[in-house]
Amino acid sequence: MTTPQHDNYINGQWVAGDKYSPNVNPSNTADVLGLYTQASAEQLDQAVQAARAAFPAWSVSGIQARADALDKIGNEILARREELGTLLAREEGKTRPEGIGEAARAGNIFKFFAGECLRLAGETLASVRPGIGIEVTREPLGVIGLITPWNFPIAIPAWKVAPALAYGNCVVLKPADLVPGCAWALADIISRSGIPAGVFNLVMGRGSVVGDALVNHAGIDAISFTGSQSVGGRIAQQCAANLKKVQLEMGGKNPQVVLDDADLGQAVELCVQSAFFSTGQRCTASSRLIVTEGIYPKFIEAMQARMAALKVGDALQAGIDIGPVSSQSQLAQDADYVSIGQQEGGTLLMGGERLSRDADGFYMAPALFTDTTMDMRINREEVFGPVASIIRVKDYEAALAVANDTPFGLSAGIATTSLKYATHFKRHSQAGMVMVNLPTAGVDYHVPFGGRKGSSYGPREQGRYAQEFFTTVKTAYTLA
Ligand code: NAD
Repeated sequence: MTTPQHDNYINGQWVAGDKYSPNVNPSNTADVLGLYTQASAEQLDQAVQAARAAFPAWSVSGIQARADALDKIGNEILARREELGTLLAREEGKTRPEGIGEAARAGNIFKFFAGECLRLAGETLASVRPGIGIEVTREPLGVIGLITPWNFPIAIPAWKVAPALAYGNCVVLKPADLVPGCAWALADIISRSGIPAGVFNLVMGRGSVVGDALVNHAGIDAISFTGSQSVGGRIAQQCAANLKKVQLEMGGKNPQVVLDDADLGQAVELCVQSAFFSTGQRCTASSRLIVTEGIYPKFIEAMQARMAALKVGDALQAGIDIGPVSSQSQLAQDADYVSIGQQEGGTLLMGGERLSRDADGFYMAPALFTDTTMDMRINREEVFGPVASIIRVKDYEAALAVANDTPFGLSAGIATTSLKYATHFKRHSQAGMVMVNLPTAGVDYHVPFGGRKGSSYGPREQGRYAQEFFTTVKTAYTLA
């Protein structure tokens, strides 16, 4: 059987590239999902030119037509959530239920922004000069480059593409080269939605080649990026040099505080979920578990028991809690951090070793460190794998200080039965999203998503706040 080839989607056509790369299942490296092309420089240029040509008509197109197209895309994703979720699990390594949940989220995002097409509002104000009326309206930005990471291969493309199109922009999407399958499936669905040629374009390939060319293309008006801090920082500088609007969502080192008065079972469950589900490969994963002295011994004991029961295995196998790490290089990075944690004086309480399963995949036992301090690299740098460390603190005040002692600020959680501490933490946590008695990962699709400090730059994504980035404001004055 020949391996299926997948092409770029440019100006309403599927366009073959010069080169193709295999998309390999991290649960079983013998399983190749397909061959996915790499866009050439000419193809990237064609995609940008097609988007520019489509923009004048699309930017003034009727909101009913836009809403109908987005709703149709959302409906198809939801109807095919099991199939798309299975594809996602197979290419990224999330468990199949997690993959199906992510596909459903992508479908719901399109349906939410179908509604937002009809809700974009402006303001009418009186002028300080008598006889003049003022209207404040929002207009599309133009052609937007969308660059997405590998860890949410369908939800993140959805939460950038849907608002961009809803507000009348044209887009060129460059998904992570590790997981082009879900983005290709999304492009396939969009190609049948009635959206005119050139409004949506897909260019696949390497970040340093296709991504870099997209950021620096003169025909691109703005960039929405999700990925690592190092790449995001460079993109921000490139956009600033060319005066392009830019939005960055980056990494995290999210704290999960557990206070003496917490419900122990609940606290352990949410720590295990936040730290290790989706193999710890979530920007909102909590990798720093900050535990007060009174509950510390019971917490450690309960964590060990819960972690011992976790099943690591093939993402498509029923009953699995944690799939493989996404790639060989990510596995090597996770293993490096386990060694670094030990060299720095942390105690590796359990896990951290490579696991073998029936098929050859990138399996790792979830790792938990104790005796760690905030000066250790494992508590300062994003590992982006199933590696968490416990930091023991005296009381709530110390826990809050440690929680905020990080260059990141995406998500933060507290497990407590105290209204006083929960309320104080919500107000004083230096994170963009705060969770009380809930995992730091796992958010709704209709409300803003984003962080502070080194985790985010520019306006928030998702919900109606997405219009801050994907539109530009116009103030019009009329003499009556
Ligand atoms: P990455 O930065 O390596 O890559 C992200 C995207 O940028 C990919 O499409 C990649 O091909 C592209 N890219 C790489 N180099 C580029 C360059 N020089 N110019 C333009 N584009 C380039 O990140 P990753 O490994 O794919 O994803 C993991 C990271 O993403 C983690 O840091 C994680 O925390 C972060 N993340 C953040 C959020 C959020 O919303 N805050 C969500 C998911 C993931």
